[in-house]
Amino acid sequence: MDRNENTIGGTLDSQFRPLAWYEALYAGEVRRFASPTTADPALWESWRVAFREPLRQRLALPASEPSPPVFTVAPPTTLAGYRRVYLEYASAPDTIVPAWLLIPDDLTGPAPAVIAVHGHGSGMDDLVGLNADGSERTEPQGYHQDFALALCRRGMIVLAPELRGFGRRREPQDQAAGPTNSSCHAAAWWGILLGKPLLGSRVGDVLRGIDLLQSLPEVDARRIGIMGGSGGGAVALFAAALDQRLRAAVISNYFCIFKASILAMQHCACNYLPGLLQDAEIYDVAALIAPRPLLIEAGTDDPIFPLHGVLAAYEHLHESYALQGAARQLDRDVFVGGHQISGAHSYAWLARALQSDS
Ligand SMILES: [Zn+2]
Repeated sequence: MDRNENTIGGTLDSQFRPLAWYEALYAGEVRRFASPTTADPALWESWRVAFREPLRQRLALPASEPSPPVFTVAPPTTLAGYRRVYLEYASAPDTIVPAWLLIPDDLTGPAPAVIAVHGHGSGMDDLVGLNADGSERTEPQGYHQDFALALCRRGMIVLAPELRGFGRRREPQDQAAGPTNSSCHAAAWWGILLGKPLLGSRVGDVLRGIDLLQSLPEVDARRIGIMGGSGGGAVALFAAALDQRLRAAVISNYFCIFKASILAMQHCACNYLPGLLQDAEIYDVAALIAPRPLLIEAGTDDPIFPLHGVLAAYEHLHESYALQGAARQLDRDVFVGGHQISGAHSYAWLARALQSDS
């Protein structure tokens, strides 16, 4: 062997791989809050209690507010089978969240409600059948497939908040550049430097949305769920993991082990929560939702959340649900398609999950 680190004139064969150090950490299973491998309910409960507070801190979420947020509404628009209301609510003293509220016609009493969380694109309008120019469309379009409207048509009140960095909540130069140019990049890096990760700020806005829904007489406060796709799936995941008022969740085109997706290719900066891997992989976070009903929706050909990574994450998660005797509360819909909402199974599933009083 020619190589000798103490001899001048030997052969250097080092490969300087900048990620090797991180990969070694990842492979070393350093997760502080790895899901329990026990069927003991007491250990699961103590794990949930121990994990949630550090997770809130990772997301830099403020203490929960005891009172519902102040909100203002515009006159409703009456459409076939439902009303659409534009409202703005204060999620924090300096933060106003625009949102669509969809209310089905002919409600006979307090109804179930869903928070619909959009991903990248043109913001909340894309969930309720509105084109970028404000015109109404007649058929679902785009990767969101108007899923807020689809849920409303199944009898659920739907709150679709506009996430920070999208739609109306963008910087002027991004608004001028076109309807889908987000302000994620600047907002995410500002957030990291300020210790307020953008993902956490979005989750905080959604959690205040639960407070808002619970304050509405039209809503049955015990029957609130959440559905999100892509980056909205990330927000839905963390919101449901933290807040047990969310009784059921649908996570679409997002749930995938980090190694196969957000660590494997270039994703928007808003996907990265500093320090999370020290605590958990994605399936550990999702295990906080158990034993509440959870549906994972994934396309066979999603290029940015590959199916093999989805199934690997699902396998871990299924084990966590099974250990808690709740395997039947976890479901998945793998549909033939790409990075998009399907709804073929999830809309009816969510309606059912919010139907009973059990
Ligand atoms: Zn983003």
